[in-house]
Amino acid sequence: MDIFLPEYAGVCVGVKRAIKLAHKTSEEAKGPVFILHEIVHNTHVVKDLSDRGVKSVEEVREVDSGTLIISAHGVAPSVIEEARSRNLDVVDTTCPLVSKIHRIVKNLSAHNYTIFLLGEKNHDEVMGVCGVATENIHVFHRKEEIPGLPLTDGPVALVSQTTQSIKYFDEILELLKKRYPQLEVHNTICDATEKRQTSVLEIAGDMDIMITVGSMSSANSRRLQEVSGGLCRASYLVDSADEVSPEWFAGSEKVGVTAGASTPEWLIEGVIEKLVRISREKGFEPSVNRNESAEEEFIETH
Ligand code: SF4
Repeated sequence: MDIFLPEYAGVCVGVKRAIKLAHKTSEEAKGPVFILHEIVHNTHVVKDLSDRGVKSVEEVREVDSGTLIISAHGVAPSVIEEARSRNLDVVDTTCPLVSKIHRIVKNLSAHNYTIFLLGEKNHDEVMGVCGVATENIHVFHRKEEIPGLPLTDGPVALVSQTTQSIKYFDEILELLKKRYPQLEVHNTICDATEKRQTSVLEIAGDMDIMITVGSMSSANSRRLQEVSGGLCRASYLVDSADEVSPEWFAGSEKVGVTAGASTPEWLIEGVIEKLVRISREKGFEPSVNRNESAEEEFIETH
């Protein structure tokens, strides 16, 4: 069995930055430290932060004193205001690329645009972006929802959750253009998502099996499994090596391994080690083919 890794896989610069800030806060803050929701959508990273004494809360009102960490997905400005009004120290780890969407939406909203946001209604990032617009923002995720979007002759814009599929965004764009010829387009799918999707597409067609390492709660991990799905015999999403089953690989020669932007490297390596073991148990010495490129750093734009 031969194992292949795409050019880009696993933890992105935004997630690395958020985890680093959260760890630093857990070490240096005076008093208790809380995190609103999950720092990033990965069960292992969340558990590690909890082991460092950072308590997870669902609402700001659960915290009376200390430090509140805002996750990489960002929140509505009203949430930060609420935390400050409770005299909490706020450590904001919002990814700069999510902050960029906040700025775009704020500006569109100030100019009375009707804003269409392609994304998952209950995702933290989407809820935070909606909180930036004063009104007139419509979240949708399926093309079947387009006929239900309000008709208007006024200015209209499309933005996207950072982790949507590029292919799907383009499909949606074509449909929306027919309904709203005046549509202004802001493709806010982030660079890390785009690179991971493009590089998985480059290898998935040559694989028998694709494995995406990431949590079910991670939108971009689910997307990687989806995009590789129709291109090979089977495509699995696993949280860690424990979920990899030897039965999946009967008759498989090529296995691709990718990972969502919230998946730390050690989880990917754990899956590769397990695949190597499975292959050896079947009597084949595997090759591990890596083609990784270094991730760029952020160009901070604010
Ligand atoms: S996936 Fe993109 S938007 Fe999300 S943290 Fe990473 S770089 Fe930022």
